[in-house]
Amino acid sequence: MNNSIEGIHYQTGKPIKVIIKDGIILEIIELEATESKSLIAPGFVDLQVNGFQGIDFNDSNLEESEIQNVTQTLLENGVTTYFPTVITNSDESIRRSLKTISKACSSNKLVQNTIQGIHLEGPFLSKEEGPRGAHPLEYIQAPNWEKFCAWQEETEGRIELITVSPEWTESNGFIEKCVESGVKVAIGHTAANTSQIEAAVKAGATLSTHLGNAAHLMLPRHPNYLWDQLASEKLWMSIIADGFHLPEAVIKVFMKVKPEYTFLISDSTQFAGLPPGKYQSPIGGEVVLNKYGRLFMEKKPELLAGSASSLLQCVNFLVKHQLATLPEAIEMASIRPLQYINKEKSVGLRRGNKADLLVLDFKATELEILQAVKAGELVYSKKH
Ligand SMILES: [Zn+2]
Repeated sequence: MNNSIEGIHYQTGKPIKVIIKDGIILEIIELEATESKSLIAPGFVDLQVNGFQGIDFNDSNLEESEIQNVTQTLLENGVTTYFPTVITNSDESIRRSLKTISKACSSNKLVQNTIQGIHLEGPFLSKEEGPRGAHPLEYIQAPNWEKFCAWQEETEGRIELITVSPEWTESNGFIEKCVESGVKVAIGHTAANTSQIEAAVKAGATLSTHLGNAAHLMLPRHPNYLWDQLASEKLWMSIIADGFHLPEAVIKVFMKVKPEYTFLISDSTQFAGLPPGKYQSPIGGEVVLNKYGRLFMEKKPELLAGSASSLLQCVNFLVKHQLATLPEAIEMASIRPLQYINKEKSVGLRRGNKADLLVLDFKATELEILQAVKAGELVYSKKH
């Protein structure tokens, strides 16, 4: 496909024409003027997606066609790259989910291009109440390299990121082996102490998964694992900025500590993209999604039951609450996670890069997806 898009550069605010050839940005020409008021930005990248719109990647009956459906729905929501996320479950269920995702990639080019890796979040996490979050206790276990290798084989090497807790004695050796094999390691769902976190970083961990969530309700003022991770210069951090998982003050402080190394994840569950109502959750029982997008346990409304927001909604939250400028919020959802994954030499809206682009409408404080382009192909266009 050989084509071009006109609009406003999301960062410079200048009118531009992006020329695309063979899936690549051939050229970006600055124009004197353009009639288009739409912004052109890099496509969103979500490294933690548990499901979307009624489909759960951890459902043991997950089908390949459902992964295609989620991929299409995410593209419509501006996500041009994502990591399906498989969480703690029985060994066999984890294997099955991984296998199905992998098969869906092999059999469909768009799915293959959009799913750039799989995130395995568990089962090597903390057993403690709080850090464990909603991960089922019965399946939480010590890091096990052989088990991981068997799962990795099922995916034909597609696991690119694993979240582990470094509080196990087996953690450091495990982290080293993962990193050696090219898999990125994140610290998360952890109750680890200072020296365990330091050792994990030394072993090669490079990310804090949804920092500030999956933590004890009460923590000693210091030391604690939030300070330890914030203080580590080698750790990037992912945050869920949906307006429910972290208070604004926390987001503000986190972003000030690691302005270049913070990126957004949706951590969306199957309830994202569904209308408000009462639903049945496989791990949480009855859950309620209210009209503001907050997902909580019906019996304990103070407890969240996961995220029901898209990455776009998180970007909009940051902008609306002036926690980030518009270009910065867009980059936290696009360029930054790609820089973390570090597979491509150059990322973003630049000549020679992959043409994963969005055409966005920005009204008041809300971005809306008008078009999504994946590897140069128009994969979504809003109906008028
Ligand atoms: Zn989690």
